[in-house]
Amino acid sequence: MTAPSGPQRDATSRRRFLAAAGTAAAVPAAAALIGGGPLGGTARAAAPGGPTSYAPIPPSALGPALNADGYFVGNISGNLYWVTDSVYQAMFVTTRSGVVLVDAPPTIGHNLLRAISAVTQANGRSANVTHLVYSHSHGDHIGASSLLGADVVRIGHSECRRLLLRADDPNRPAPAVTFDDHYVLEAGGERLLLDYHGPNHTPDNIFIYAPDHRTLMVVDVIFPGWVPFKNLAVSQDIPDWIRAQDIAMGYQWQTLVGGHLGRLGRRADGDLQIAYVADLLAGARATIASLDPAPFFAEYGNNSWAIFKAYLDAAAAKVASPVIAKYLGRLAAADVFTADNAYVMFEALRVDYGTLGPFGDHP
Ligand SMILES: [Zn+2]
Repeated sequence: MTAPSGPQRDATSRRRFLAAAGTAAAVPAAAALIGGGPLGGTARAAAPGGPTSYAPIPPSALGPALNADGYFVGNISGNLYWVTDSVYQAMFVTTRSGVVLVDAPPTIGHNLLRAISAVTQANGRSANVTHLVYSHSHGDHIGASSLLGADVVRIGHSECRRLLLRADDPNRPAPAVTFDDHYVLEAGGERLLLDYHGPNHTPDNIFIYAPDHRTLMVVDVIFPGWVPFKNLAVSQDIPDWIRAQDIAMGYQWQTLVGGHLGRLGRRADGDLQIAYVADLLAGARATIASLDPAPFFAEYGNNSWAIFKAYLDAAAAKVASPVIAKYLGRLAAADVFTADNAYVMFEALRVDYGTLGPFGDHP
């Protein structure tokens, strides 16, 4: 497959490309879309013999094949559905009075409307999206909000509204309906429970529970089948993000919509990620107790930042190495992001948990 050169963002060619990527089940290539802007780098990452090669992705981490438009829409239970482009996910419920959509990832974009249209044509319900729930304020998960028009009722945490008013992004109108702790969204005979349990990935990230379907959607917390995205999902509060995994498991769900990658989550996915994260934290504790910074001081003299960079890089590598070995083949891309995840965990151990090791009180 080839990517368009330059900053070409023609919608049709982009759609064709994504469809082709999906058909080829090229999930790792598509992952370049997360942070890479348009399509630059995607073809290079996918090319055989490229600059970096990684372990193959376990088939169990991959989801269903995408259709010709580049998406998959599936039923979870009853009137609850999920849609994915193999990198991002949204969820929607068809009600007697219209559709309640949770998140609008721009990479899925207009395919959200195609998926909703396909489902409602089949079940005879209205395709009109009446409510749009924001899991959190991040543009990669709700940046297609404006496609739903001005009349949709947008719902999010009060902090989400504050962040989006600050962002002033026409693609992400601030939610008109907000809540602080809990909100029960009832529409056309369907019910979603929106819960806030404090900051984790972001200050505004919420838990969306469909009790009648035993389904929880919480985004950027649990990554079914895969290690968490770089830097523990670029989370702003690591101790609370770690705690959010346990809060998620406290719901009586059977199906998890994690917001990322190509398949739904099962409870074993949550347990496995919690074990992976616990191993990172345990490794960080062991490393800070054993890694001697003296050689880095000797090597870099008066360059304080070089000393710290070398020390922290060495610590991350030491933490990551056994974790990669343990999880490779069990969690996809353990060899891709574990060093970055270890780095962030090591820093969280120092500055958030206050375990300072050799940088504690001077004797
Ligand atoms: Zn996010």
